[in-house]
Amino acid sequence: MKKTIVALLTLASNFSFAHAQQDSIMLDRIYSTSFEKGQAYENLRYLTKQIGNRIAGSERAEQAVTWSKSLMQSMAFDQVYLQDVDVPFWDRGLTEEAYIVDSKEKLQVLALGGSVATPKSGLTAEVVEVELLSELRQRGDEVRGKIVFVNKPWDESIVETGVAYGLNSSQRSRGPAEAAKLGAVAYLFRSLSSSVADDFPHTGGTRYVAGIDSIPAIAISAVSAQKLSAALKGDPKTKVFLTNSAAWKGIVKSHNVIAEWRGSEKPDEIITIGGHIDSWDVGEGAHDNGTGTMGTLDAIRTLMSLGYKPKHTIRLVFYMNEENGVQGSLKYGEMAKAKQEKIIAAIESDAGGFAPRGFDIKASAASVSWIQANWKPLFEQKFWVSRFLQGSPGVDSGVWGEHFPNTVMFNFRPDPHRYFDIHHTAKDVFEAVDRRELQSGVAALASLLYLVDQQSDQIGK
Ligand SMILES: [Zn+2]
Repeated sequence: MKKTIVALLTLASNFSFAHAQQDSIMLDRIYSTSFEKGQAYENLRYLTKQIGNRIAGSERAEQAVTWSKSLMQSMAFDQVYLQDVDVPFWDRGLTEEAYIVDSKEKLQVLALGGSVATPKSGLTAEVVEVELLSELRQRGDEVRGKIVFVNKPWDESIVETGVAYGLNSSQRSRGPAEAAKLGAVAYLFRSLSSSVADDFPHTGGTRYVAGIDSIPAIAISAVSAQKLSAALKGDPKTKVFLTNSAAWKGIVKSHNVIAEWRGSEKPDEIITIGGHIDSWDVGEGAHDNGTGTMGTLDAIRTLMSLGYKPKHTIRLVFYMNEENGVQGSLKYGEMAKAKQEKIIAAIESDAGGFAPRGFDIKASAASVSWIQANWKPLFEQKFWVSRFLQGSPGVDSGVWGEHFPNTVMFNFRPDPHRYFDIHHTAKDVFEAVDRRELQSGVAALASLLYLVDQQSDQIGK
């Protein structure tokens, strides 16, 4: 009896050893193919330089849809199609302007996505500075008729910059409505930047609340925020002039772009991989999220070029409107739910194209432990990819995942240090992306996709 168990265990461990060896050889091939023949970087060059930034509803967003579709059609997919998505179109209008009235000191500003306009001739008002929105309520009547200025510095002690971002991003989205409720005339928000020396304003989504008057919501650079704060310390009656002409332009027809590579064994079981194709309307949407779309596409292209035949259907999805409405992922979820699809796993890339560090995983603790024991060693020593932790999915997967609570989700995590220096700014351009780092990320994504396809029965428990 005992002998049988020992023999079986030996057999099992020989099997997993052989498996690991075979996987290791495949990962070597994926990495060298990605570095030597990868096309993510050149595709990114086209997306950023020939098309440019692409806010949902804009002409360039539709150009990106059409071009992405033709790019997918040039590959060995079995099916490429568009999914109709209605998106709200917000237009920035003319370049914003702001300055301190007395000194004429220019302030670097950018309207937050969704902001309404100032009066045509601009507005001038005194400023109430706070660090936290909660302080506003205590200031009560003092706020009426003034510009609310939320000046909370970035917490530089946190290595994971996404956490520092998350600590303050709700002040960006909730702020304008809270300030308007107290009678403020505009909302000025210190940019969510990881660099104290950053003089670029960072845009991002904000929210208005029905029944409360909308006021202009403007991001101010970290450097300008410090200048304004110093001026207010010298003279609390300091006035600021602001002008912007942003407006909502109604609902526009747009699309998710989808391609399918049919599985040879279980074609009805789907692995989704992708990221959002829209961007903010400044810079070129390179790291956010040109690298995520071009990277996931190139991960599939890499496997195709190696002659790989997937067991499950691999579905590439470029979501529309992640930045200001998530209508694309809502639609994707709605359609997948209506068709009762079996989506066994999802991989998303939307954290930039810096050197890959690993993946956050939405799965059971047992499943994450299994991945740490079996997959992490394949990446760790050779490829410097070592983060395999339980965590949140990407924004788009998280949205449609509401309908698919059992889908195992992987959120690609590149190095976080520089992302929030350029995020949502004019600095997010092609030149900010490094080819080798990007292709290393492509290889990590392709390797994970291969492992999920091969061993999906191990991770859904
Ligand atoms: Zn993004």
